[in-house]
Amino acid sequence: MGKKKFKTEVDQLLHLLIHSLYSHSEIFLRELISNSSDALDKLKYLTVADENYKNITFDPRIDIVIDEENHKVLTISDNGIGMNDKDLEESLGTIARSGTKNFLSQMSGDKVKDSNLIGQFGVGFYSIFMVADKVEVLTRKAGEEKGWSWTSDGKSGYTLVEKEMESHGTKVILHLNEKGSEYDNRWQLEQITKKYSNHIAFPIFLHYESKSFEGEGDDRKEIKENKIEQINSASALWKKSKSELSDEDYNEFYKTITGDNDEPMLKMHTRAEGTLEYTTLFYIPKKAPMDMFYADYKPGVKLYVRRVFITDDEKELLPTYLRFIKGIIDSEDLPLNVSRELLQQNKIMTNIKNGSVKKILSELKNFSKDKEKYTEFIQQYNRPLKEGVYSDFANKDELLELVRYKSTKVDGWTSLAEYKDRMQIDQKGIYFITGDNEKMLRNSPLLEAYKSKDIEVLIMDDEIDEIVAPMINMYKESELKAVNKSGSMDDLKTEEDEKKETEIKPLLEKIKAALGEDVKDVVASSRLHESPSCVVVDENDPTAQMQQMLRSMGQTEMPEVKPILEINPDHEIVKKLESTSDDELINDASRLLLDQALMVEGVPLKDPAEFARRLNRVMSKAL
Ligand code: ADP
Repeated sequence: MGKKKFKTEVDQLLHLLIHSLYSHSEIFLRELISNSSDALDKLKYLTVADENYKNITFDPRIDIVIDEENHKVLTISDNGIGMNDKDLEESLGTIARSGTKNFLSQMSGDKVKDSNLIGQFGVGFYSIFMVADKVEVLTRKAGEEKGWSWTSDGKSGYTLVEKEMESHGTKVILHLNEKGSEYDNRWQLEQITKKYSNHIAFPIFLHYESKSFEGEGDDRKEIKENKIEQINSASALWKKSKSELSDEDYNEFYKTITGDNDEPMLKMHTRAEGTLEYTTLFYIPKKAPMDMFYADYKPGVKLYVRRVFITDDEKELLPTYLRFIKGIIDSEDLPLNVSRELLQQNKIMTNIKNGSVKKILSELKNFSKDKEKYTEFIQQYNRPLKEGVYSDFANKDELLELVRYKSTKVDGWTSLAEYKDRMQIDQKGIYFITGDNEKMLRNSPLLEAYKSKDIEVLIMDDEIDEIVAPMINMYKESELKAVNKSGSMDDLKTEEDEKKETEIKPLLEKIKAALGEDVKDVVASSRLHESPSCVVVDENDPTAQMQQMLRSMGQTEMPEVKPILEINPDHEIVKKLESTSDDELINDASRLLLDQALMVEGVPLKDPAEFARRLNRVMSKAL
């Protein structure tokens, strides 16, 4: 096999990477150690779970070797799973993640400097090109005969040739560049390893040459000795008790398992004892993972059984809506050879999952007491929590305490509990309006009656609210009511409103006749103060946004939903219309009342030219 080019995008990415992470070049070591640790985890798992690997015995370890003779050569090796030619092409020749394109397009301006984003896309291996101008990877996959050599300068591509290897595992040989030469140094390497990788579950050995002097005066001789020293504590961090761990320990461990260079927003470390024993260490990243809204997001939680790694590719360890959680679940009770395929049906796993969710939600409840920090959380994760309200029936009550909404009464975010506290004594429900434009929602005529009665309305401008809000139904004995549904005003109606309704009936009939099939009904409104008209949808009909969503989900045969036009009996225009007998004017005005109401709700006009003609006719009559 000869020289190969990197698959698209890699070139670009390398360039960006090298420039944006330059000041953090030491993370190359963390990335390599973390890859080695994963490779050891994988092989260990196979030796317990797979017949074909049972006869492999190995002492998992990672070795860092300073080459004192060939200065500026650094080797990091492991005796883990290794790679064959196919693996090498797939993992080091391309960046296979779906998010890469998107990532690149976002990496402009200031964001280029945001090194967190880089870790999120698992381009970790490429960080070595910050410190090396040539890299050789020697590797042999466990259970296979052939070994391989992969070399690259990180710019023009790579070569891949067969090469004999004594045993399975991977050796990464770095030819350090000028920047990298500072790492050709025992103290530096030890310090960086301790900082980032102290709690990797496997021992890391540093090989170096120690120099000392013997004798005195002219007899003084330099003695060189090759030494090998374990430099990390090699204890699974999550198994330690909280009191033994500092914030820094937790943070560095987070960085090792996620590749994120930022500190986490929150950590939760729990040991469950009782019928089931397990340990969980969960983190919430400061910034939502960039693939959070991709169907093929990378799950963030790794499963261990009695400290043996089982999988990091199982999306069902936590419910989907908690996919932003990173960390570890380590069970004492699952069998080591638990089949990954059957994990989802495993009773023990289900119990661990349920227990973990309860724990996470209760920690978040606690966290929410700190308003400032919780606002940051909401800015990143409000939407997945709302997905939870929709999908996790068992925890709906807890989730309803955690979601936040905008409101007509307060700046920033409010909880449903706070809304309830502000409710008027005789208020019948929790009112909300949904749509996709906050400003438009705040100015909607639908809110006029609520404003005049000083009733708070929640402004729900996230598209997911359209599905989730109607599902909430009740919050602590208060019904949630959409203000753009026909029945929402019923509890605010007065006797006087009803009297006006009867009086205006004849005009409503005329308008209805003028609009024909374009409306479901024309009714008197008790919600309007300034505007002459507005549109609502029938309580039993899906809203416009909902229909769009249903359509995109494959439901194509839907009867057209028609709006209900509400008319304000107190408005001057309406009063004048009541007393006119000009049929053409009633006709034009009816259309205009409907069109302007639709327009205010953001619905585009079907026939703008016709709208203008009518408007002009009415104006010329008025002038
Ligand atoms: P990530 O570790 O986030 O997947 P990397 O770019 O660091 O991204 O590595 C890409 C892939 O290369 C890894 O997922 C793994 O499959 C493979 N790999 C890297 N280092 C090793 C190693 N030491 N042993 C076995 N496989 C490795």
